[in-house]
Amino acid sequence: MSIITSASGLSCWRGLDYYKSKKIKNIKKINNNEYTSIVLGNKDYNVYLNLEHPRKSTCNCPLANGKRIICKHIVATYFSVVPSSAKNFEEEQEKLQQEYEEYYEREYNNAMKCLNKMSKKELIEELVYIFDYAPEWVYDNFIKRNGIEG
Ligand SMILES: [Zn+2]
Repeated sequence: MSIITSASGLSCWRGLDYYKSKKIKNIKKINNNEYTSIVLGNKDYNVYLNLEHPRKSTCNCPLANGKRIICKHIVATYFSVVPSSAKNFEEEQEKLQQEYEEYYEREYNNAMKCLNKMSKKELIEELVYIFDYAPEWVYDNFIKRNGIEG
């Protein structure tokens, strides 16, 4: 388990913002695995970072205070102490985004292949089937886009 895998995606993104806008002050090294910092937020928060045992990290912000939650302030401190982790996190997210786009494009192309092979009758049947199972707004949008009066 690392700080990143212990934190929510949102805390990671917000932590990256804090790191990039240099809101982490007063970083003190206790030893190779333990650090403290002050992170400038709505108030100034005191962070204790434990790299060896991420869940032992603490922050006195409302989200994390007294809980074993890795908040954005802890993540921001981690990115400041280990800058390569910020770079890795961003690269990993970009890779995931690209994989998702490739997946979406493949699915889109497959759907187009199927649709192009179908007759008008088959397309109508398929559409009626989809309207039956899709949420109501799908049908409502279809009616709106095509200017059919209800
Ligand atoms: Zn916090």
